[in-house]
Amino acid sequence: MLRPEFWVSRQVPSGNDRHSLNLRRLWKLTVLIMSVVAIGPLLVVTGADYKVTQESIESEILLRTSRIVSNTKRSVQFSLVERMSALDFIVQDNSYEELSDCDRLTSILERLQKSFKGFVDLGVIDSDGRQACYVGPYELAGVNYLDQEWFRNVVDQGMHISDVFSGFRRVPHLVIAARHEVPGGGFYVLRTSLEADFFNQLLSGLELSGDGDAFIVNRQGILQTSSRRHGAILDRIELGMPRASNTTVVNETLGPHGEQLIVGYSYIPETPFVLMIVKQKPVLMQAWRTTRRQLLFFLAISITGILVATLGVTTYLVDRIYWADLRRVATLHRIEYTNKMASLGRLGAGVAHEINNPLAIINEKAGLIKDLFTFTDHYANDAKLMAIVNSILSSVERCSTITRRLLGFARSAEVESSPVDLKSTIKEVLGFMGKEAEYRSINVTMEIDDLLPPIQTNRGKLQQILLNLVNNAFAAVKDGGAIAFSASQNDQQSVTITVSDNGCGMTKHELKRIFEPFFTTKAQAGGTGLGLSITYSLVQELGGSISVDSEPEQGTTFTITLPLHGTPKEAPADAGLTR
Ligand code: ADP
Ligand code: MG
Repeated sequence: MLRPEFWVSRQVPSGNDRHSLNLRRLWKLTVLIMSVVAIGPLLVVTGADYKVTQESIESEILLRTSRIVSNTKRSVQFSLVERMSALDFIVQDNSYEELSDCDRLTSILERLQKSFKGFVDLGVIDSDGRQACYVGPYELAGVNYLDQEWFRNVVDQGMHISDVFSGFRRVPHLVIAARHEVPGGGFYVLRTSLEADFFNQLLSGLELSGDGDAFIVNRQGILQTSSRRHGAILDRIELGMPRASNTTVVNETLGPHGEQLIVGYSYIPETPFVLMIVKQKPVLMQAWRTTRRQLLFFLAISITGILVATLGVTTYLVDRIYWADLRRVATLHRIEYTNKMASLGRLGAGVAHEINNPLAIINEKAGLIKDLFTFTDHYANDAKLMAIVNSILSSVERCSTITRRLLGFARSAEVESSPVDLKSTIKEVLGFMGKEAEYRSINVTMEIDDLLPPIQTNRGKLQQILLNLVNNAFAAVKDGGAIAFSASQNDQQSVTITVSDNGCGMTKHELKRIFEPFFTTKAQAGGTGLGLSITYSLVQELGGSISVDSEPEQGTTFTITLPLHGTPKEAPADAGLTR
């Protein structure tokens, strides 16, 4: 349905410079070039925009994660260092004897707890691991720590922060301990514990986007705080431990269940702790997905628009070219046809004149011979001779009918407008087809109003019109078919002439196109497709109109209406082209 007409157009019968354009190729090339030129840059720009936006969103996410990790790391580190300094200060400020005094130790703990959150207890342990003095909520006085890891570490290093562990009290906590040399040899250890919840309080205030989870692990990957997604305190995290680094690092990784994660971490120096913040990348990219959908939607709409416009405009333009070209070629043909008819007329007239003279002489001499014979008795009764002379005379008569007809054609081609008797004109046209009708036993009938007045028109053109229609009718009917003419007066102004046949008829589709130049279904049989196109313009030139009625396999009727008194119009340039 959408296929433009030039697409199915036949290559018009060639000749020099008749129809050199390959419209299909032109159409394809134009559509291709216009679409590429319009869509190409659009794709490039959209692609670039897509990439830039995605990258900037991603780097923004990484940057924000990195910032929050390093800030949090600083505050965790600061809290621990603060507490270590407090412990160090106590050790520096008191002698072993003073600290071994449990009442004094109690008041020190009270003051500590007032200034710093998280301190649970205090203990003084002598060099063989025995707890000399303990203040705090647990029953730990006299416990021996010699085998505990943290004790060995503090003896080695002087100052120590332990991992979170359950220890003797069966509650997760961590230990900060400081060793102090006693003047005169030996040492003792001052030890305090922080409840593990101390970390949770540090982390709970964080506002994390992307369903984020902040927690602290030790270097073996054991959770030091509880975590929302990665297990309870003292569980091992499923995520692998990140590579050790002095700086804050943010990575994209896949979680244990294949989910996309953004993992930021920082090793907290001088402690066994690693701060980790884990965010869900898909949640963070939610906004990007919306933007992306809009971008792609915009792209799809634009491409559709460009394609529709390109196809529409190209089809329209090429269609216009097609029709313009058709008109040009049709005009060329009409001029050629008119010239041909004119030369034919002149030729006919010349021949007729040339033949008329000898014919007149033959006629005259034969008449003379006949007269001479009639006077001489000897010949007058010779029936055989008489018959020969008569046959010469009648042949001459027939010849002059033909020459007269030829002359008539030639003359009528010249005369612009004259009173024309329809009946004799139709007869004359049929005269050319008489023999064929006889061979093919086609029944030609005429039904012409006897009172029909002569019509004022161009006789030559009318003859051509009728000849074209009769030709088509003869081509359409089978042997033994019927062709009928009728003519009648409508009113004071016009007459109607019909030419009908009971031949092959036409489909609706053909019917729409028969007046187009070069439309023919008889290409094999030498049809040019010009007959009806020329007929159409001739009828217009005579100021009349032509219409057609046809049913496939039923027959066809052409109806011509002509003005009675002749008001010839200017010939329209695009005869037969309905656009
Ligand atoms: P041509 O006769 O060279 O094919 P025309 O312009 O005279 O060109 O006719 C165009 C086409 O119209 C024909 O090919 C034929 O298909 C159709 N046509 C014209 N007259 C008739 C008719 N009387 N019956 C059936 N088809 C016809
Ligand atoms: Mg024809």
